[in-house]
Amino acid sequence: MGYLDKDSTEGISYCLACGDIIEYGQGRRDRKFCSPGCKNRYHNKRKAQSWERYQQKIQKTLDNNHKILSKLLQIGLTSIDLVSLGRLGYNFNYVTSYHKAGRRSLYSCYDITYEATPSRICHLESHWDSGTGMETEEGAVSESEAPKPLSFAVSGDP
Ligand SMILES: [Zn+2]
Repeated sequence: MGYLDKDSTEGISYCLACGDIIEYGQGRRDRKFCSPGCKNRYHNKRKAQSWERYQQKIQKTLDNNHKILSKLLQIGLTSIDLVSLGRLGYNFNYVTSYHKAGRRSLYSCYDITYEATPSRICHLESHWDSGTGMETEEGAVSESEAPKPLSFAVSGDP
């Protein structure tokens, strides 16, 4: 509008949600929204955005962990001490699954599984089959069963 020259715009506020000029009328002078609806919309959006950021942060951490484990496998390592792993930037707080099998603590980061002892991780193994895009073993690790390698009790049989 023509009458809004530079000086007269001072003191005018715009709704943070829709950008409309806030009509003060008898209301408070420090309002940030033109209506309660706009206020709700704004805060809901903010909440959704911060949840998204939170998810992205976890995703990024897991991806970085996976990259580190993949590199180790690429150079033929299936075991590494926790200090070295931490130095590589591994974040121990994020895994995609964990379960105990007897005394063993078994973790996975997506397709890569490993066993963790108090000082190192070992039995690093990838279960990704790029040919099918599916895990090579039956589904993911289940709650009750360890993903232990198949072993055959053939010794006792005649
Ligand atoms: Zn508004």
